Amino acid sequence: MVQTDTSETRALRLDADDPLARFRREFLIPEGAGGQPAVYFCGNSLGLQPRNARRLIEEELDAWARLAVEGHFHAVRPWYSYHELFTESGARLVGARPGEVVMMNGLTANLHLMLASFYRPAGGRTKILMEGSAFPSDTYALQSRLKLLNLDPAQHLIVLHPRGGEENLRTDDILAAIEQHGRELALVMFSGVHYYTGEYFDLPRIIEAAHRAGAFAGFDLAHAAGNLPLELHGWNADFAVWCSYKYLNAGPGAVAGCFVHERHGKDPSIPRMAGWWGNDPSTRFRMHLNAEFVPQPGAAGWQLSNPPILALAPLLASLEIFDQAGMAALRAKSLQLTGYLESLLDQSPPGRVRSLTPRDPERRGCQLSLCFERGGRELHQALTQAGCICDYREPGVIRVAPVPLYNSFHDVWRFHRVIEQHV
Ligand SMILES: *Cc1c(COP(=O)(O)O)cnc(C)c1O
Repeated sequence: MVQTDTSETRALRLDADDPLARFRREFLIPEGAGGQPAVYFCGNSLGLQPRNARRLIEEELDAWARLAVEGHFHAVRPWYSYHELFTESGARLVGARPGEVVMMNGLTANLHLMLASFYRPAGGRTKILMEGSAFPSDTYALQSRLKLLNLDPAQHLIVLHPRGGEENLRTDDILAAIEQHGRELALVMFSGVHYYTGEYFDLPRIIEAAHRAGAFAGFDLAHAAGNLPLELHGWNADFAVWCSYKYLNAGPGAVAGCFVHERHGKDPSIPRMAGWWGNDPSTRFRMHLNAEFVPQPGAAGWQLSNPPILALAPLLASLEIFDQAGMAALRAKSLQLTGYLESLLDQSPPGRVRSLTPRDPERRGCQLSLCFERGGRELHQALTQAGCICDYREPGVIRVAPVPLYNSFHDVWRFHRVIEQHV
């Protein structure tokens, strides 16, 4: 065991040296025990409120009050083109080109839209490969899509589990499964970071293997967007979806993201579930005179409805912060912050706490999923009482996400102090 300096002084020094420390002040942190700010380690579930969110929502409420329908064109940020405010920042977030990303709907709705376009079973190519113990909504979406097509999920959905006694999937095993099922695969669909174990999958290699097998590769980036630098365009992903209320801090039920690779975005022949907001804007308002759907190029061509402006406003506040901080700098701090947490936990007596998350920092984002030998639930209660907010999942797993935008090294130190007293 490597000896670690567990002193509070060290934590405070790390904060003093942190070039991103100022971003903590851009967020509203709930109060914890004794009036101190809580140690908020639940950003993987619901990110904190950016200070600017309220102002941006109020500006739209004012525009609505003053301008009513005229707000579509005459608000400071005209509602008609409001979604275009995310063209650049949304693309930067996931390593896409402008036009490849649109913010719309919820994650699961976007997943269904993407499945309609990119899961098109034909001939012997009918199967979908996904990771095991996935977030239930993803499993439900895939199963229900299969049933809509009269295909039996038991036969057409291949679910990969880690080897016996292991917590994480090995990349080689994923690649081997893709190769093994090669000619039967229509789609390889994975999460970016596994919501439960925190494993970050090797997206570029999965994409490459899927394409070599002749299948599409799509991703649910709910736990990856805003957590890790992504290169969706360069990696050649076919599609991706994510929500904006976890690491993206855009508020409960926030408007989600959707990526469609340029090579598909410029192909109007791709079948899709269409709506008027996906139509070419130059003919959109010809209304019933324009009975034939003409998709606009890019991910925007998958939009259905005119966007919910009040719900999009906090996302604008959030992405401005991401642009200021930059994903590369956030990742650098994240590696340090989660590494610091891990090094403190390593000081615990052997066997008392074990992490389900890969130890290799390249194979994870900021989250560690901690499994306690006994008393996980009691420990979670003690943490809550001490003002540490993190989540508990049966059987005995506490997921903690030190978020580089607003968590400090001192937060990690305070969290560990509670752990120390209980394990
Ligand atoms: C959070 C999460 C969801 C939630 O779906 P919504 O449609 O946003 O409610 C889905 N999938 C994964 C992997 C998640 O982590």
